[in-house]
Amino acid sequence: MKIGVPKEIKNHEYRVGLTPMAVVELSHRGHQVAIQTMAGDSIGFSDAQYREAGAQIIDSAADLFAWAEMIVKVKEPLAAERALLTPNHTLFTYLHLAPDTAQTQDLIKSGAVCIAYETVTNALGQLPLLAPMSEVAGRMSIQAGAHSLEKAQGGMGLLLGGVPGVEPATVVVIGAGVVGQNAVAMAVGTGADIVVLDKSLETLRLLDKQYGNRIKTVYSSKDSLERHVLSADLVIGAVLVPGAAAPKLVTRDLISRMKKGAVVVDVAIDQGGCFETSKATTHAEPTYVVDGVVHYCVANMPGAVARTSTMALTNATLPFVLALANKGAKQAMLDDAHLLNGLNVCRGQVTYKSVADDQGLAF
Ligand code: NAD
Repeated sequence: MKIGVPKEIKNHEYRVGLTPMAVVELSHRGHQVAIQTMAGDSIGFSDAQYREAGAQIIDSAADLFAWAEMIVKVKEPLAAERALLTPNHTLFTYLHLAPDTAQTQDLIKSGAVCIAYETVTNALGQLPLLAPMSEVAGRMSIQAGAHSLEKAQGGMGLLLGGVPGVEPATVVVIGAGVVGQNAVAMAVGTGADIVVLDKSLETLRLLDKQYGNRIKTVYSSKDSLERHVLSADLVIGAVLVPGAAAPKLVTRDLISRMKKGAVVVDVAIDQGGCFETSKATTHAEPTYVVDGVVHYCVANMPGAVARTSTMALTNATLPFVLALANKGAKQAMLDDAHLLNGLNVCRGQVTYKSVADDQGLAF
């Protein structure tokens, strides 16, 4: 199959759909890959590296789309890219169609087969192509929180691990899913005191088994949440209620009673945030202060570490890209119900129920 990888054109998007490593795998199996020139250059994947891996380099997006049968990307196609999609294409990328009527209409018009990373499932009912970005965001949350605790960033001037003779900071992680577990893993490394709250006892049991008395696991309730947030130096918000906006677990009143110079990192901001005082920020201006508490609420945290994120994403997408390329989109999805769950728009029809429902379209 002919697989095309365009350069991402969304503002400040430096990730790329396939790494040179993935190109080697695809070429090895007899597929042709074309990369748009400079697509990975800013994160250290040069045109020369892609060529060496077996790809050809194409200058313009228009030529690349005209050549390719499958387009592998990162972000949803913008209007200029959607205009290049035809019924000959399979599109494999993040789409996040539910709130995006213009994109949905254009994908319907294109006649292309559009498979969204975010709705592909696995045997455990998880979302394997979202998980790598949650891993990145979870690990980054401690890094971002540690930085924000510094005096120059508005924090109280606290080192997470303390030093001999000075006690460490207290990190409270709310939500122990993929983001929360990765935050805990990083926080453990810093030497901080760690409390992790979740409503799932099964999840808390697993964490307890993994870390023993190095961390405290706490069942998440109004009372426990309030007590631990008030004693925290850094709070990581990492809750998710599937299919719903994030619950506002930390109220404005609770924020006003936190330690001055404490930090909250609201990773769940892309679902509206779990602190009542959260509003989305960008990497250019990641924090703001409410009642003396520094808020870090970047909606696209993995974008800051685009090289790591690209490699993590490709590791997860590559088996699906290979299946689509080896068998063709139709057979690959007939053979794999989890990949089929990724199908959002197919040849002029919305094929994902919640997207159709949200936009009042036939399903
Ligand atoms: P997940 O489903 O793996 O974990 C969510 C956890 O929240 C679950 O363990 C669940 O039991 C727990 N939870 C639900 N209600 C709770 C409550 N009231 N109290 C305590 N815990 C509760 O989800 P995830 O992959 O870890 O993602 C978490 C959030 O991070 C999502 O909103 C996701 O969209 C977001 N995210 C943001 C970025 C970013 O760049 N800002 C990147 C990746 C993920």
